Amino acid sequence: MHERRLLPTMQYGEFSRQAYNRSVTQGRIIKAQLELTYRCNLHCRHCYTDPYNAASLFPRELTLNEIHRLLDEMRDLGIIWLNLSGGDIFMHPDFFEIYERAHRQGFLPQLYTNGTLFTRAVIERLQAMPPFTIDVSCHSVKEERFDWFTQVPGSYRAFRRGMTLLQESGLPFTLKTKLMDWNKDEIDDLRAFTESFGQSFGYTTSLSPRLNGDCSSLAYRIDPQDLRRLEQTNLATDDNDLCAGKQEIARPDSDRLYRCGCGTNSIHISAWGELGACTLQYEHRVSLRTHSLRNAVAQVFGAIQSMRYQSDSPCRSCDIHRFCEKKPTDARWEQGVAEAPIPYDCDIALVRAEHAVRQPLIHPLRNQVVTPVRIP
Ligand code: SF4
Ligand code: SF4
Repeated sequence: MHERRLLPTMQYGEFSRQAYNRSVTQGRIIKAQLELTYRCNLHCRHCYTDPYNAASLFPRELTLNEIHRLLDEMRDLGIIWLNLSGGDIFMHPDFFEIYERAHRQGFLPQLYTNGTLFTRAVIERLQAMPPFTIDVSCHSVKEERFDWFTQVPGSYRAFRRGMTLLQESGLPFTLKTKLMDWNKDEIDDLRAFTESFGQSFGYTTSLSPRLNGDCSSLAYRIDPQDLRRLEQTNLATDDNDLCAGKQEIARPDSDRLYRCGCGTNSIHISAWGELGACTLQYEHRVSLRTHSLRNAVAQVFGAIQSMRYQSDSPCRSCDIHRFCEKKPTDARWEQGVAEAPIPYDCDIALVRAEHAVRQPLIHPLRNQVVTPVRIP
């Protein structure tokens, strides 16, 4: 007779804490973001993937077999949280085949979507194998402005239909807002909308150049002084915007180009099969078409961890770097070199730092001569 063994159970918070601790002490990768496709039914004006949402480029995307192989390799690496993103995930012709395989393999799936593609059939299939969570973007609750921003008439109505279905489904979801120059005046309505689902409201502000280097998306950034006014109303920002972790005034303790958690316990796989350390890290990527996942991780993490500031960039000794969202790839597109400070990010970091310590601070670029050098 077989002896029945019960698996030990624990609260999710404790499980998560232990997994993160193990990832630090044992150098394990526990989280992955897999961009399934750059296809999307919308064309949001700030979108960094939109230039690759073109039929001529779809053949470059990972095939179903390649995705299956990567899921197997991620499972073998011990990855727990699997974020599926796009584009919009529901535009992938084989989304459910991929999702259900990942679910059966034991990942905790986190889904990113614009919320406009939910139908009863989609909801029912998700209910049969519920995701860990669904993150839905919500940047406006006014039909005309929503459709202007997505550049797709009718998208707001599709979004509201989707949200109704999602709410009725009982599936776990979270609304995410990006506050920009064009929607900052909607903040009270956005907060009320989010709270109507029983969720607390937060927002992020960071925008990046598009994947092809086009910086026109940055025109939608919120003015730092507007952010200062919002911070003074004590509205919480979403901490996910800040990679830097604990927020305090302190000189960097190393010359590392990546001072955040980049290159430690998370990976990002682009829809073209390139491995990076996070969504917007494009300084060093390795193709998963020519390398195993394990080998690519070793190469990318080694490169990211060894990159050092070589120039006299103010970032090197910046007291408020922990409040800063500067990403080296953004700096390369926007300022020409990865080491350069991004003046807009300096302004935002200053607003956040001054809000945190409740006193005026010196702007990191004041009286500084910025002469970053190009690294070959
Ligand atoms: S919904 Fe997302 S992927 Fe689609 S265009 Fe908007 S930001 Fe880009
Ligand atoms: S971009 Fe500005 S705020 Fe950010 S680390 Fe560099 S100097 Fe500091």
